[in-house]
Amino acid sequence: MSRVAYVNGRYVPHRAARVHVEDRGYQFADAVYEVIAVADGRFLDEDPHLDRLDRSLKELRIGWPIARAALKQVLRETVRRNRVRNGLVYFQVSRGVARRDYGFPKDARPSLVVTARSAAPPSPDPGPGVAVITVPDIRWKRVDIKTTGLLGGALGKQKAREQGAYEAWQVDDDGRVTEGTSSNAWIVTAKDELVTRPIGHEILAGITRQTVKKVAADLQLAVVERPFTVAEAQAAREAFMTSATSYVTPIVSIDGKTVGDGKPGDIARRLRAEYLRAVAAATPFV
Ligand code: PMP
Repeated sequence: MSRVAYVNGRYVPHRAARVHVEDRGYQFADAVYEVIAVADGRFLDEDPHLDRLDRSLKELRIGWPIARAALKQVLRETVRRNRVRNGLVYFQVSRGVARRDYGFPKDARPSLVVTARSAAPPSPDPGPGVAVITVPDIRWKRVDIKTTGLLGGALGKQKAREQGAYEAWQVDDDGRVTEGTSSNAWIVTAKDELVTRPIGHEILAGITRQTVKKVAADLQLAVVERPFTVAEAQAAREAFMTSATSYVTPIVSIDGKTVGDGKPGDIARRLRAEYLRAVAAATPFV
C-alpha cells in the first residue's frame, strides 16, 4: 500500500511530497512540529498536542497555516488514507517560503506538511527495559519550543545507538539531567517519589509527562519536580522515560550502571499500564 502525505492543501504520494528549497524550515529550521500517537484508531492526547503547537507557533510568531478544526480533519484524513490503525501522525508548520534572509519575511504563508505511519500497537507490557547513556546537552536555550532544529538530539541519539543504547539523557553544565533526546527523564527514589525536572526553557513540556503526572496522582504517587544528577539516577530505585511514541518505558541501565535490580521497576510498569488505559479511555474514537 503506497503512503500518502499532505502538503499545503494536497494529498500526494509520499515519494513525491516536496517543499521548496527556500522553505525556511529547510534553511533555518524555522519550523515547529508535533507527533501524536494513534492507538486503535484513537488520537492520544490530541488537544494537548494542538495546544502545545499553538504555543510553539506563538513563541516564534508563525501563524496557523489552517484553522485548528481544519487541521484536525487533515490529521484524520492523512491517517485514514495511510490506513493507520496503530502508529503515529507527524505534522510540521514552517514559516513558509521566502528569499533567504535571517529576518522574518513580510508575506510568507506558513507551510503545513502531515505524514502518518503504522507501528506496533502499544502494549502494557514494557518488555525488558532499555539502556540509556548520558551526553552533554549541547542544544540551544529554548528547547521548550518544539522546533525542527533537532541536531543536538540527533547527535545524542546516534551516539546512544552506536553504544547499543536506546536513548541518550542530556546533561546540563551542573551535571543535572535535562531530558532525553526525544523523551522526558524520570527517576523513582528510595521513598517511592517520582522525580522529574520542572518545566522551563531547558526541556520540552512533554504531553506524556503531563498525563503521567495526573496518572501518578490518581495512583497516590508523589511527584517531585526538581533536577537530579546522573549519579542520583544511577543509584535510584527505578528510572524511566516518557514520550508520545514510547509511552512510559523503563530504563534498566545508565552509562552501563544497572538501575535497581536491572529489571523494569514496579512503579514504571504500573504507570505504563495505567497511562495506556487512561489515555485511551479519555480519547473518543476518531
Ligand atoms: N523531550 C523531547 C526533546 C522530545 O523530542 C520529546 C518528544 N517529542 C519529548 C520530550 C516527549 O514529549 P511528548 O511526551 O509530548 O512526546
